[in-house]
Amino acid sequence: MHRLEKLGLTCEKVSSGGRTVISIVDDASTVPSHYFSQLDQVDKVINVSPRYPLTATAPQDKSFFIGATRFGGGIPVVVAGPCSVESRTQILKTAARVKQAGATALRGGAFKPRTNPYDFCGLGPEALAYLAEARAETGLPTVSEVLSAEQIEMAQEHIDVLQIGARNMYNYELLKEVGRTRKPVLLKRAMSATIDELLQAAEYILLEGNEKVILCERGIRTFEARTRNTLDLNAVAMLKSMTNLPVVVDPSHGTGRASLVKPMALAAIACGADGLLIEAHLEPSKSVSDAEQAITPDELAEIVVAANNIARLIQPTPPVPYTRPFAESKNRRFDPPVSTALPN
Ligand code: PEP
Ligand code: MN
Repeated sequence: MHRLEKLGLTCEKVSSGGRTVISIVDDASTVPSHYFSQLDQVDKVINVSPRYPLTATAPQDKSFFIGATRFGGGIPVVVAGPCSVESRTQILKTAARVKQAGATALRGGAFKPRTNPYDFCGLGPEALAYLAEARAETGLPTVSEVLSAEQIEMAQEHIDVLQIGARNMYNYELLKEVGRTRKPVLLKRAMSATIDELLQAAEYILLEGNEKVILCERGIRTFEARTRNTLDLNAVAMLKSMTNLPVVVDPSHGTGRASLVKPMALAAIACGADGLLIEAHLEPSKSVSDAEQAITPDELAEIVVAANNIARLIQPTPPVPYTRPFAESKNRRFDPPVSTALPN
């Protein structure tokens, strides 16, 4: 304590069960923890202050609107559309169908980060223009991935939400670039990133002054080979307790199987996700990328209805006060059980 105080820090001592904990009350970021951890009398030095203060401590409601779509809070946002924009007709038709199905935003990859360079890598700037046209026709905000500073520039006027894909969550220069824009950013968790690494990646964006960050759980790599990834819904409930940033779930990449998209989408809403990112295609089997996980607009419509029902069920409902009618109160000794209908 003496040595800490010599550094100008205020400390408090608590002893219990034969152990002594000395906590530093002030900002301890400059404390040379390696020096203290090597002292004979010190068992360990623990940093309890968050390494992502902007992401962790924002007390205010971090939800925001893009047009009529609210990201975070309220009803689940459903971002739906094809994995890749394949043609002008495809994206215009798909946009109309997903809107009809209840989607609140349109997704579509213009620049595709592909594992194999010989695979379809997207139509590029041409696709951005088609997405903007689809937005003008449907009123749906557009979400699309950017892989470089140059692509951020190209996307500015056409795209409402810049997506940082799983492969780029660790690309800190790109995170800073999107942080310098004032566009909302949908940040996907890398396939082997811990929850803390995701939050620190978000911090890069917030630190540049862009507070509109949406976190996205999209499945992580595990030993399980039956599914493309393992959708980590623990992360959703955990993130909701660690930050006020909106959290969405991508059950398409999270499972890699069209038949699992609905059950996992609903599970995501049940555990507190603010929304969903879903790959939908007019003819899933003909999708040029990620055909195995694409669902039809009709299947999407079923998910939207069920997701909204679940969201309503789990919302904390204000207690409905029960007032006993006068005549009844005179004759009855006990209040009858009250069934409180859920508001629509
Ligand atoms: C996508 O959303 O199209 C995509 C490429 O996802 P991810 O970055 O999660 O693999
Ligand atoms: Mn995809």
